[in-house]
Amino acid sequence: MSLVLINGVIYSERGREEAVVIRSGKIEYVGTNEDAIEVGGSRARIIDLRGSVVLPGIVDAHVHLDEIGLSSRMVDLRGVRSIGELKEKVRQARDKGKIIKGWIIGRGWDHELFKERRMPTRYDIDQVCPDIPTLLIRVCGHVAVANTKALKISGIMNKVATKNVEVDEKGIPTGVIFEDEIGSIMNNIPKMSVAERAEIIEEALNMLASHGVTAVGFMSCTPESFEALQILKKSGRLPIRVMVYFTYNMIKYLKALRLRGGYGNDMLRIMGIKIFMDGSLGGRTAFLREPYSDSNNKGILRMNKKEVRNILEEAHSLELQVAIHAIGDGAIEEALNAIEDSGIDGSSCRIEHASVVNEEIIKRMKKLSITAVVQPHFIISDWWIVQRLGTDRARWAYAFKSMIDAGVKIAFSTDAPVEPVNPWLTIYAAVTRGRYENLELYKYTANECLTFEEALECYTNGSRRALSMKEVVLREGMIADLTIVDRDPYAVSIQDLKRVKNVATIVNGRIVNLSL
Ligand SMILES: [Zn+2]
Repeated sequence: MSLVLINGVIYSERGREEAVVIRSGKIEYVGTNEDAIEVGGSRARIIDLRGSVVLPGIVDAHVHLDEIGLSSRMVDLRGVRSIGELKEKVRQARDKGKIIKGWIIGRGWDHELFKERRMPTRYDIDQVCPDIPTLLIRVCGHVAVANTKALKISGIMNKVATKNVEVDEKGIPTGVIFEDEIGSIMNNIPKMSVAERAEIIEEALNMLASHGVTAVGFMSCTPESFEALQILKKSGRLPIRVMVYFTYNMIKYLKALRLRGGYGNDMLRIMGIKIFMDGSLGGRTAFLREPYSDSNNKGILRMNKKEVRNILEEAHSLELQVAIHAIGDGAIEEALNAIEDSGIDGSSCRIEHASVVNEEIIKRMKKLSITAVVQPHFIISDWWIVQRLGTDRARWAYAFKSMIDAGVKIAFSTDAPVEPVNPWLTIYAAVTRGRYENLELYKYTANECLTFEEALECYTNGSRRALSMKEVVLREGMIADLTIVDRDPYAVSIQDLKRVKNVATIVNGRIVNLSL
């Protein structure tokens, strides 16, 4: 049976068209309503788009599916303005039983927004929640605060101080922890069953589909989540395409199961592994060439060139891509050095975030044929970035236009749940760069604004290339992955790009969201 979409707006190579026919997962026809109805045949399902606009399917190249799913059960701490308000949110969560496997997990606080201008401590949280282990992760994901109960369960209270555990002048943990130590606390949360995990991931996938996302790169996937995805696939519950990147320490698991890059099919495929070179700008753990402008450290380099090179070689032998988290210019340089030294084809490597660059870095990325997987919405969230970097370096923050002009391949993403899933907020951020939010960064980087067309290209073909998917154009023969929206993004004012809403999503010829 075919699917016929009529009364729409489709910008094809031939000009503006009004109808699309989809059959066997592909676009069979683009043209007029009458012809589409004829091509579709008498048994076709006809959908009246009522003027909605059909675009190639949006692809989010970097998300965390398990965390998106869990975030609906977490305490949302984004936009909290004081430690008092943070405590109130934890108290409410405790009262309402917003608890995951016996723990209260919160996410999204940013102490830069607090009127106290300091990080919360375990003593703050103990006041409202002494009895349930509680872990509150900062907006960047690289810093967290835990209550005393959580620290005790995790053995951190008695641990010899490490650089990832903040201590007071007596050497006693304050509850603030960094980087790997967050994972070691999370390891104490009882594991979900595979069925529970499948349910959570399914929720996340449906949420993405409702925003018009047709495929994702799932970063830092675990064996449990991969098993859950396979259950979803087998039972026909995968609404959108999932391209999987495991954490590096899963390479043993892949070897044991004799899994290589490329395993799977067009709906679910193993792509690669992800490694971390540095942390975040928010937590001042992203590694910069020169110290931060508002402190005297340079951040943390988590891996050196040699370690990265070894991983690249190991991954290469298993045909796995390597996605390298590198935010600061120092970390990006070290990653490029490693790729260069290894002699491995840069097109099998991605740099995640690539937030702070310079002309030299951009040239090298182009030369090595590396894809930058960027998150334009960071521009809106990182409103403090000019203080962190100083004005000269801020000029090179999120320098998407310079990258495109130099021929660097760019993929768009949200890093959700770090940034919102809605792709129109990402596109709006890439096109306006904080102009209407009066962000300081706009002053220094107005020349880095993209056009809507450029942003859409990054979000469709740019992301598809990063995930080794075939490029698309709206024409006969194209794979039927479509994002359909309520207004014409080519015609609206740039301010209104953030108001564009998804009304239908089609993946592989199948309707996975319909809210017309
Ligand atoms: Zn991420």
